[in-house]
Amino acid sequence: MTTIKLHNTRTRRKEVFTPIDPDNVRMYVCGPTVYDRAHLGNARPVVVFDVLYRLLRETYGADHVTYVRNFTDVDDKIIRRAEESGRPIEQITAETTQWFLDDMGALGALEPDAMPRATEFIPQMVAMIEDLIAGGHAYAAEGHVLFAVESYKSYGALSGRTVDDMIAGSRVEVAPYKRNPMDFVLWKPSEPDQPGWDSPWGRGRPGWHIECSAMSYELLGDSFDIHGGGNDLMFPHHENEIAQSCCAHPKGEFARYWLHNEMLQVEGKKMSKSLGNFFTVRDLLDQGIPGEVIRFVFLSTHYRKPMDWTEKKAKQAEATLQNWMMATVDLDPVPSEEFQPNPKLLDALGDDLNTHLALTIVNSMQSKPQDLLDHARFMGLLSDDVRANFKEHYLSMAHGFGASAELAELGLALDQLRKEAMESKDFSKVDTQKKVLIAAGLEVRMSKDGVELVPGPNFDATKLEGLE
Ligand code: AMP
Ligand code: ZN
Repeated sequence: MTTIKLHNTRTRRKEVFTPIDPDNVRMYVCGPTVYDRAHLGNARPVVVFDVLYRLLRETYGADHVTYVRNFTDVDDKIIRRAEESGRPIEQITAETTQWFLDDMGALGALEPDAMPRATEFIPQMVAMIEDLIAGGHAYAAEGHVLFAVESYKSYGALSGRTVDDMIAGSRVEVAPYKRNPMDFVLWKPSEPDQPGWDSPWGRGRPGWHIECSAMSYELLGDSFDIHGGGNDLMFPHHENEIAQSCCAHPKGEFARYWLHNEMLQVEGKKMSKSLGNFFTVRDLLDQGIPGEVIRFVFLSTHYRKPMDWTEKKAKQAEATLQNWMMATVDLDPVPSEEFQPNPKLLDALGDDLNTHLALTIVNSMQSKPQDLLDHARFMGLLSDDVRANFKEHYLSMAHGFGASAELAELGLALDQLRKEAMESKDFSKVDTQKKVLIAAGLEVRMSKDGVELVPGPNFDATKLEGLE
């Protein structure tokens, strides 16, 4: 079995991963707030935890892993969007949820085993809040319920801050009903025109953090293995989840391993609307960038390093995937049954998800097309859908020279020229032909068995037009 080591934010160390129950390995990842298209940054945790999900399924068996990722479908941003657009909230959240699934599907992400929506778990959240009040960890004030951070001595441990540091660092205006400025909202009142549910504290709605505590408890229990999300969620969201869950279920451990992906930037700058470098996954897909190119670029940077999205990287990824596609174009879409991922590749992923190394290993399989295809698939690349939809895309990029058959023909022609040259001792034609092939970005491999032409990252088929 592959040894999996993961960097645990809680201990700030890479640790050997040992599941609580190898028959049911459990992972929870914070999902999107559904009011708009996912931006490129939102896709990073999806791809990162998809790779971890695949690795866990491979290691413990596909039926022995439970991956939960929520949809936040009650939130002030959603309410605002509904007010601005005049559209019902349910319409906005349903539409955005489907967009998210479509866009992440285009990136080759498997769907989690459960995708709970916050609005489906309101009674469970209310029950948890009642428990927190009963245990002295929360208090009701002016229609709100607040978590009392001083009631939980480990508050701040995940992100390494004390309550005093937090107070000093916060600039938000403190609501008069809070006992401590860092106390956070579990429940708040709703205006008549806002979404709301009846509760012991009046008609209202949950604060953001409580949903993940309630849903992970319902679906994964009071102790589970992995909790993930972007590192912008570490504080306050994850800190608050821990406080709520550990105080409501003191016998449980909540999550054992905390994983956080670093942020995505664009051309070295923070992605933001004001800098004009903000785009959604759909924007890129609509520009004709295949989803797997986005996935490939993501996987080429380790998840704990800031990821810089650049056009250059997208082009390079596209060229590599084009090579992979060309090498495997004639293969049956059915994966070989006896497929077992290469242990080196599993070890790379097991080393805190070294996806960059994993891609390098896949790339080195080009002389064995079936291996290449099976392993690319394992990494969520070259899936049947992608192959069906983008075969055209890649082949048109290669201007008809995409099919490996055509490169093979050029190789045969060169081999023939070489044989003739051996007789005539005049190698000039061979040299000229070779120069053209190399200029087109092909590697020319000559051996006594023949000539093999291997497209490199800069392969440009247009430069081969007119050759025979
Ligand atoms: P949100 O909808 O803002 O709660 O974000 C959904 C997920 O996307 C969370 O796991 C965030 O940490 C993650 N996320 C948001 N922005 C970025 C970014 N620029 N880079 C990487 N992850 C991000
Ligand atoms: Zn969460």
